[in-house]
Amino acid sequence: MSRSVRVKCAKCEREATVRVPYAKLSLCSDHYVEYFERRVLGVISRYRLFRSGDRVLVAVSGGKDSLTALRVLSKYRSALGVELAGVHIDLGLGAHSEESRRVVLESCRESGVECYVIPLSEILGYTLPELVRRSRRPPCSLCGLVKRYLLNAAALEWGFSVVVTGHHMDHILVFRLKEALTGQREREAAKLAPFTPGAPGLYAARARPLYEACEWEIKLYRELAGIRHVEAPCPFKYRDVISASIAEMLEKIEREIPGFKISLARRLAKSSAGDATIGVTPCKYCQMPSSSGVCSLCRLTLRTHGEPMGPRVRERLRGVVKAE
Ligand code: SF4
Ligand code: ZN
Ligand code: ZN
Repeated sequence: MSRSVRVKCAKCEREATVRVPYAKLSLCSDHYVEYFERRVLGVISRYRLFRSGDRVLVAVSGGKDSLTALRVLSKYRSALGVELAGVHIDLGLGAHSEESRRVVLESCRESGVECYVIPLSEILGYTLPELVRRSRRPPCSLCGLVKRYLLNAAALEWGFSVVVTGHHMDHILVFRLKEALTGQREREAAKLAPFTPGAPGLYAARARPLYEACEWEIKLYRELAGIRHVEAPCPFKYRDVISASIAEMLEKIEREIPGFKISLARRLAKSSAGDATIGVTPCKYCQMPSSSGVCSLCRLTLRTHGEPMGPRVRERLRGVVKAE
């Protein structure tokens, strides 16, 4: 991003305050907000993320990405013909989680969107730090496992057809390139496609409307649209050297070849359109997706709780009500 001086907005007579290099556009603040929203709507249409009548559950963490996705979708839900609700997973990270919950509920109220809160300690019996201690697994891998399970199970239990997450293009490109460098399984690719179709009783569809948005564009939109977010990072956040190096390399290429990242993201979207359900069977305990007959949550909790918690988690999710 670069902020220019005394250049006219491409859409009106006002002075441009934002330069979008890959689009060769200079825009004033209002027209940048409009431009960003149109681009998100473009992604929704290009990848057919929603069908009219879809019940859409937006996963909102309190960070800028998911709150931005929520804001844009809430603004255009009627035009898209979808019903919208938010869901927030309270990981039990003390003050950080309290602040996140407050910010999410406030944002949902402002956007006129009802929100469910899933307190991990009540649903699973442990907070994330307790789970880390008991399992001795890295926090972020546990967090990912638990969130994936809970979002999918919640959508199925509450009758939502699509789960929306705030993954953006920079995050996705780094993940995909890291995957190529480290030789992760190909099936993982479907997890970060713009759209992952659902399977009845097994998966809710996944949609990523920020698939073609750069991180700086989201930061700027959040600021100009006045969206409050949680600034402090998660206490478990750490610097992953491989990811950081890939991100730097991508930025360097993008500076030389504006538009490179979007072209790459579009090419990857074609190669990641595979069926995420290939080789997946229902867990013998909780009927959620698994690759070996026992899902990752049941496998984990057999060790941490002495029993597979999937069935109990699903039952407890049924009792979660929308926050006031
Ligand atoms: Fe979860 Fe925190 Fe790791 Fe993000 S940084 S994946 S919120 S534990
Ligand atoms: Zn303008
Ligand atoms: Zn299970």
